[in-house]
Amino acid sequence: MKKAVIDTNKCHKCIVCSTIKQCPVNAITQERKYIFKVEHPMIDQNKCVGCGKCASVCRFKKDTVIRIIKN
Ligand code: SF4
Ligand code: SF4
Repeated sequence: MKKAVIDTNKCHKCIVCSTIKQCPVNAITQERKYIFKVEHPMIDQNKCVGCGKCASVCRFKKDTVIRIIKN
């Protein structure tokens, strides 16, 4: 089965991560620290079905922030 893995060093911690609403199984969450400060998104590996949507809608996908791997 495939899973999405986020490279936390490459993620730009966008204020509203573009991947969250696109995930069909709601596997992605993002913690807000302050109004304009957020953490990188977290991917629940138990929910992720490896569809790849998050990797394709990430604003910095050219940096390969999210990779889909076989586990
Ligand atoms: S859109 Fe991409 S770079 Fe921005 S917070 Fe989400 S995963 Fe990180
Ligand atoms: S690969 Fe698909 S199911 Fe997994 S986190 Fe990304 S959008 Fe959600």
